Amino acid sequence: MDLKSHIRGVPDYPKPGILFYDISPLLAHADAWAVAMGRMARLIQETGADFLVGIESRGFLMAAPLALKLGLGFAMVRKKGKLPGDVVRHSYDLEYGTDTVEIQADLVKPGQRVVVVDDLLATGGTMNAAIKLLRDVGAEVRAAGFLIELDFLEGRKKLDVPVLSLLNYD
Ligand code: AMP
Repeated sequence: MDLKSHIRGVPDYPKPGILFYDISPLLAHADAWAVAMGRMARLIQETGADFLVGIESRGFLMAAPLALKLGLGFAMVRKKGKLPGDVVRHSYDLEYGTDTVEIQADLVKPGQRVVVVDDLLATGGTMNAAIKLLRDVGAEVRAAGFLIELDFLEGRKKLDVPVLSLLNYD
């Protein structure tokens, strides 16, 4: 199945000059979503992961069904202030200012073999921050998994783990 035909490129969103890769048509198509999750699950299975983490918010739409499919637990990495109770946080630099990601402190166990999942790899800044956060809580990050990778931005160069991606764009 040609999964790219279910990804919609939206020019100049959310800012002029950005081509936004909208995964909504893929999610709306039951077969396409199932095929995408099946292919990603096979890639992730090869890493020996025993736990999945998804990055807010579209990463949840990949990581949660993948975790169910693989019989693994799942945890959320969210932007600051969205998770209750004790959290561990990691701040990172943006073009202007900083951003912070958080995870609940007790969900990932030391030594847990984690794959971190997001919908799309652009510059790699978001995934890099999530990987550092996971290491802070003692996880062994086996890989970063994406539905889409924008090759021309070379985000994978920023990541010191294997990068798994299904759909690549030049
Ligand atoms: P980055 O940190 O630059 O790798 O950006 C990755 C995050 O931003 C992911 O969570 C994506 O959902 C989102 N993102 C960045 N660029 C795009 C794009 N062109 N289309 C859709 N989502 C994007």
